[in-house]
Amino acid sequence: RPVLSGADLAKKYGRTDALHHASLAVDRGESVAVMGPSGSGKSTLLYCLSGVVIPDGGEVLFDGVRVDELSEARRTDLRRSDFGFVFQFPGLLPELSAAENAALPLMLEGAGRRDAVARAWELFPTLGLEGLERRRPGELSGGEAQRVGIARALVLDPAVVFADEPTGSLDTRTGDEVMSLLVSTVRDRRAALVLVTHDERVAKRCDRIVQVVDGRTLTEPKRVQ
Ligand code: ADP
Ligand code: ADP
Repeated sequence: RPVLSGADLAKKYGRTDALHHASLAVDRGESVAVMGPSGSGKSTLLYCLSGVVIPDGGEVLFDGVRVDELSEARRTDLRRSDFGFVFQFPGLLPELSAAENAALPLMLEGAGRRDAVARAWELFPTLGLEGLERRRPGELSGGEAQRVGIARALVLDPAVVFADEPTGSLDTRTGDEVMSLLVSTVRDRRAALVLVTHDERVAKRCDRIVQVVDGRTLTEPKRVQ
């Protein structure tokens, strides 16, 4: 059974049909890339699946719960405790160390600073960040900063990680490196990954590609590894 699924999702912004008949399901340990041209509805699909936006039609199920029927407060809780987010720019706080930045979601959940930072330290080697724990964001390369952003997305052990153009600000080689670490770390932790990109090279790192065209999803057959 998929950990997260969206079925027949529809969303209008005024008269703009951003999404109609869009469906996507992802299992634990699986990565799915959502691809399509600019304006095709990729971000809207991601927002519907992650409970940021309520679809006008269709349903979103996470772990047996209808996300689209939850109150805003419950959806906010769900996003904080069960979902992780990686963006194009990591948005690290410049005054905090790399490990403290990665530990922030835990501290916001009420964990003590020492415990939270220690948990972040544990994640650093798996992301190729060993030795960079005390650096300030200004002392990190773009790829390192993005990996700290990934550590921050994983620190609460989310069931699903959503990534929106996670390599969009990186050069090709660094982007490849970050994608390898993102896909393998998420898989090792048995989380699901839903990644939005317009870059086929990035998408091919995932287990499956779902194409979005004019607000509809077209699914490729599962690739044999
Ligand atoms: P993509 O991520 O593939 O670029 P989006 O999901 O951002 O596509 O957008 C799909 C369509 O919905 C586009 O036509 C876009 O202009 C429109 N749209 C997205 N968000 C909004 C919004 N908040 N208000 C109005 N129109 C929007
Ligand atoms: P400070 O000078 O503020 O103590 P440190 O960078 O030495 O800064 O440590 C920050 C936090 O990181 C500490 O609260 C500690 O719990 C944690 N920490 C430091 N070293 C390690 C380590 N090897 N493994 C796990 N956590 C560590």
